Amino acid sequence: MNRITIALSKGRIFDETMPLLAAAGIVPSEDPQSSRRLIIPTNRDEVRIVIVRATDAPTYVQYGAADLGVAGKDVLLEHGSEGLYQPIDLRIAQCRMMVAVPAGFDYLNVVRQGARLKVATKYVNIAREHFANKGVHVDLIKLYGSMELAPLVGLADAIVDLVSTGSTLKANNLVACEQIMDISARLIVNQAALKLKRESLMPILDAIAGVVEQ
Ligand code: ADP
Ligand code: MG
Repeated sequence: MNRITIALSKGRIFDETMPLLAAAGIVPSEDPQSSRRLIIPTNRDEVRIVIVRATDAPTYVQYGAADLGVAGKDVLLEHGSEGLYQPIDLRIAQCRMMVAVPAGFDYLNVVRQGARLKVATKYVNIAREHFANKGVHVDLIKLYGSMELAPLVGLADAIVDLVSTGSTLKANNLVACEQIMDISARLIVNQAALKLKRESLMPILDAIAGVVEQ
C-alpha cells in the first residue's frame, strides 16, 4: 500500500470535497474546523489529509509533499500548474471572477475612451491577461484581501475579485460590471505520484470522477 497524502484547505473546499472523498471510501477522523492539527488521519491507515492555505495547495502537490489536492481555478491560474495534472473539474466552490466598480462609475464609457484604469486585485495574472486581451490599459495594484475597500478610498477605480452571491459587493456599494470567467475547484495530482503510485491513486480518481457530473 502506498502512503497517500491529500492537501485541502479549510472551509468550503474541505466541506465540499468530503462527499467526493467519501465516494472513494475516505473519511477524515477529525474535523479541521474544530481541531488545530494540520495532519488529519482518515479511516484508511495509508491515507492522510494535510490542511493548507487555499493558495498553497498547488505548491504542496507540485513538490510531492501531497499526492493529491484541491485548488480553485483562480489559484491555479495565479500559481501556474507546472508539475500538476488536473484530471477532474470537481464543480465545487463555484463562483465567478468579475470586474467591479463603485455604483455610478461608467466603466464601459471609461474603457471605450481608452482611459487608463487603476485596478486593485489579489489576482494580478488573471487581471493582466483579461485587460490585455481587451486592449484596456491598466495599472494593477496587488492586494491580499478586502479588495472592496480599494475603490471606496481612492486606491483604485475598479477591482477584480471572486463573486458568488454579490452581497459583499452590494454591502460596499459596488457593482459587478464584467465577467472574466467562471471558477470552480479542480482535483490536482502530482505527476510523478500518478506514475509511481498509480495503483493506489487510480481507484480514488475513478471514484471521485464517478460522483462528479462532467
Ligand atoms: P481563502 O479565503 O483562504 O482564500 P476561501 O474558502 O474563501 O479561502 O476560498 C477558497 C477557494 O474557494 C478560492 O480559491 C475560490 O476558488 C473559491 N471561492 C472563493 N470565494 C468564493 C465564493 N464566494 N463562492 C464560492 N467559491 C469561492
Ligand atoms: Mg475567502
